[in-house]
Amino acid sequence: MYPSAIQNYEAPDSLDGAMAAIAKFGDDAHFIAGGQSLMQAIKSRIIQPQTLIDLQNVQELRTLETAQGVTIGAMVRYRDIAGNAGLDGRLGALRDAASHVGDRQVRNRGTIGGSLCWNFVSACMPTVTLALDPRLTLGSESRGRREVGIDDFLGEPMETDRQEDELLISIFFPQLEGRHGSAYGKWSLLTDGLPVIGVCASVSLDEGNICKSARISVGGLETGPVRFERAEEALVGVAYDDAKSHEGAISIAAEEAEILDDVTGDEEFRRQLIRSVGLKSIVTAFERAAAAGGGQ
Ligand SMILES: Cc1cc2nc3c(=O)[nH]c(=O)nc-3n(C[C@H](O)[C@H](O)[C@H](O)COP(=O)(O)OP(=O)(O)OC[C@H]3O[C@@H](n4cnc5c(N)ncnc54)[C@H](O)[C@@H]3O)c2cc1C
Repeated sequence: MYPSAIQNYEAPDSLDGAMAAIAKFGDDAHFIAGGQSLMQAIKSRIIQPQTLIDLQNVQELRTLETAQGVTIGAMVRYRDIAGNAGLDGRLGALRDAASHVGDRQVRNRGTIGGSLCWNFVSACMPTVTLALDPRLTLGSESRGRREVGIDDFLGEPMETDRQEDELLISIFFPQLEGRHGSAYGKWSLLTDGLPVIGVCASVSLDEGNICKSARISVGGLETGPVRFERAEEALVGVAYDDAKSHEGAISIAAEEAEILDDVTGDEEFRRQLIRSVGLKSIVTAFERAAAAGGGQ
C-alpha cells in the first residue's frame, strides 16, 4: 500500500471546527496544510496518521492583514507572501524567502504555518522569523488561545513549543516606530532548493543612519536556526554603509556557528557561506532600512 491507509479525512471550515477535530481524534490525527512536507513523510511511512484534518477550508487562517502591524494567517501560502508588495522594508526578508522556496508548485501549496510547525533543520521561514521576532497565536479546544514569541516557539529541528492538540492560527509582526529593514539570502545545491546555509538580517537605524539594533539568524546548522548575539551587538552603533564593520560582524557568526559537516558542504565551506551570504543579507537589510520612512 502506498501510502499507508488513512481512516478519516476531515475538512473543517472554521477555527473552532479544526480545534474540535484534533481534540476528537487525538494523537493519531495530523493537520495538513499545503502537504509539501507532511505528504512526503506519509508516503515514506515515517508518519502513519489515522486521521488527516485538512485546513484548506478554514478561511480565517488565510488572511494577511497589514493594518497596525502585520498579521499573517498560518495558511497563507508562500506565493501570497512573495506577491504582497506591502511586505517590504522591515519585512522584506519574508518576501526574499517566500520567492525562492522550492519550485512554483511548492510555493503555490506550501504555507508559512506549515513551515514553522514542521521546523525542518534548514528551512527558510524558521530562520527568517527568528530574525524578525513575531508573536505566534496558537489555540486548542481545551485550553483556548495563547501567544508565544518565536524564540520560545522554535525548538530543536522538527520540534516546536506547539502541543499536539494545538492549531497555529497566526503570526503577528507588531508595528514598530523608526526605520527598519530585513533581508534573507541562501545558498542551495539546487536553484531555490532547501538551503545549505541561509542567513537573515533584521536591523533598525536612527535618523543619522546608525544601527540601533540588529538580529541575525543562520539556518542550515545542526541545531536548526540560531541567533548570534555577539554578531548583533557588533552591528549596533555602526553606520549603515560601513562595509568593514558589517563583514566583521558576520565573521563572528561564522566563527561561532556549530557546523553540520556533511556531503552537501564541509565545515570550512559552510563557514565561508555564512560570511558571503550573511554579508549580502546585512548590506541589503541596511539599504532597505535607510530607504524606509518612519513607522511600519
Ligand atoms: C520540492 C520541495 C522543495 C522545497 N524547498 C524548500 C526550500 O527551499 N525552503 C524551505 O524552507 N522549504 C522547502 N520545502 C518545504 C516546504 O517549505 C514545505 O511546504 C513546508 O515545510 C511545509 O508547509 P506545508 O504548508 O506544506 O505544511 P504541511 O506539509 O501540510 O505540514 C507540515 C507540518 O505542520 C503541521 N501543520 C501545518 N499547519 C499547521 C497549523 N496551522 N497548525 C498546527 N500544525 C500545522 C502539519 O500537521 C505537519 O506536521 C520544499 C518542499 C519540497 C517538496
